[in-house]
Amino acid sequence: MFHVKQSSPHILLINPWITDFAAYNFWIRPLGLLYIASLLRENGFQITLIDCLGFQIKTKRYGDGKFFKTKIEKPSLLKSIPKNYSQYGIPEEMLLKRLSNIEEPDLICVSSGMTYWYLGVFKLIEIIRRFFKKASIILGGIYAILCYEHAVKYSGANIVFNGGSELDVLKLISELTNTDIQKLHFNDSAISHKPSAISNDLFPAFDLYPNLDYVCITTSRGCPFHCTYCASPFLTKGFFRRDPLKVVGEIEYWTNRFQVNNIAFYDDALLIEPSTHFIPIMKEVIKRGIYCNFHTPNAIHIREIDEEVADLLFRGGFKTIRLGFESSNKDTQIETGGKVDNQEFRQAIKHLKRAGYSGEEIGVYIMIGLPGQRVGEVEESIAFVKESGAKPMLVEYSPIPHTPLFEKAKKMSQFDLENEPLFHNNSILPCQWDGFTVADFKRLKEELRR
Ligand code: SF4
Repeated sequence: MFHVKQSSPHILLINPWITDFAAYNFWIRPLGLLYIASLLRENGFQITLIDCLGFQIKTKRYGDGKFFKTKIEKPSLLKSIPKNYSQYGIPEEMLLKRLSNIEEPDLICVSSGMTYWYLGVFKLIEIIRRFFKKASIILGGIYAILCYEHAVKYSGANIVFNGGSELDVLKLISELTNTDIQKLHFNDSAISHKPSAISNDLFPAFDLYPNLDYVCITTSRGCPFHCTYCASPFLTKGFFRRDPLKVVGEIEYWTNRFQVNNIAFYDDALLIEPSTHFIPIMKEVIKRGIYCNFHTPNAIHIREIDEEVADLLFRGGFKTIRLGFESSNKDTQIETGGKVDNQEFRQAIKHLKRAGYSGEEIGVYIMIGLPGQRVGEVEESIAFVKESGAKPMLVEYSPIPHTPLFEKAKKMSQFDLENEPLFHNNSILPCQWDGFTVADFKRLKEELRR
């Protein structure tokens, strides 16, 4: 928690708990909220940040680790699922203590993540409403955008932010706090006026965290592909990239000034057109002698991994490589967007291995439980990845509103995906059917563990 006392409006920014059957901290940070914090601070607002997920019990070598978790009652709609349900992040008593120690805010911003985590968001809003009766609450983030009507109806927030840039949030906050926008210091080069565009010079306010085991960075926003299961094209209209040298400047800032050893890239499309983006970034990182472990939890595009890119990934310090392959089935590849084919995949693995990675270090995401997908397709994909010399990693499909595949998922699913975001949870295998059952899923997972 961080708080600078000044006479300008005081904005409380909170990242809520995760409520789910399982959660692991793969370098999770509320990047959007941290950009907003930075922009507000830049413009003279007082800010307090509380990240409910910034409470980790066990940190591994690269900064990832287990969240603290509190077992909670399972939502009645999910009672039939034979797994425990937990609230991940800061213990409730500790949160209450923090809230009781801060000055009454003028406005509160709450972020949100996956659609099916909304119970943690609602609980948080209920708690802060009890503490701070006067302040309006703005709810933003992924759930708020993807399930806007649901959030308006049930969240308890005064305003649900339906998407836009950080500058749009700043304008909204300025209006709501009756702060004369003319008196604000606008750094026009710091933030683009284009909707969903990305800041070049303004860094997210990671310095508000007491310990920085890792930071996250984004060099771009959006993705030029339109995979049918992915919300990226809906969440970000267009594809925006930062100046490569500014990106390196940010990496250097965190590594030099804060001794950060681990940086996770949050890009959806880090490697697209590498000659004008990724390659100059990594060449400069190497040239400046920046040492850091880099991670790509969001997966990188396989098609772009040629000899040079693979070499820069390895020499640049990328330790966690995740490839978005999804399926070796040609029909599925084409129907879902055509981002990669099997030949490109084999080539990429070859380049990565030549560069120095072992097969065990190359994690390949395989999507399971797509609407109508047969278990045999997944088995074939696992065998194909193994045979190519990499490590298959199963990712359960989560139906996401506003994606093309959501319509098919609604027809196939036994759950009411349209009206209940809890059923988007990939842990319940929302599109299970006779051709792909929960038992199939467990067996595949078990086999991969061996
Ligand atoms: S390539 Fe990746 S980020 Fe882009 S639309 Fe497809 S799944 Fe989404």
